[in-house]
Amino acid sequence: MGRRRKKEEKIIRKTLPEFFLCPNCAKNTVKVTLDKKNNIAGIRCSSCGLKSRVPIDPLTAEVDAYSIFVDQYYGVAKVEEKKVA
Ligand SMILES: [Zn+2]
Repeated sequence: MGRRRKKEEKIIRKTLPEFFLCPNCAKNTVKVTLDKKNNIAGIRCSSCGLKSRVPIDPLTAEVDAYSIFVDQYYGVAKVEEKKVA
């Protein structure tokens, strides 16, 4: 009698998504580059060529910079819509 317990080693992999969804062309082709020396993140879509730069701080990760960029993108879009209307 005896139960054998299998040791399950769970390997948690940090999967850093290299590419993010582009708010402009809706493809997974946005790349975020962190420039920690200048506290700036460069964002570029290799599909439609959308480019942006957002200010970051040393703790900002790619995904954070991306979400700032998306906010900025839609923020700008809204402002432009209001101007047109
Ligand atoms: Zn794009």
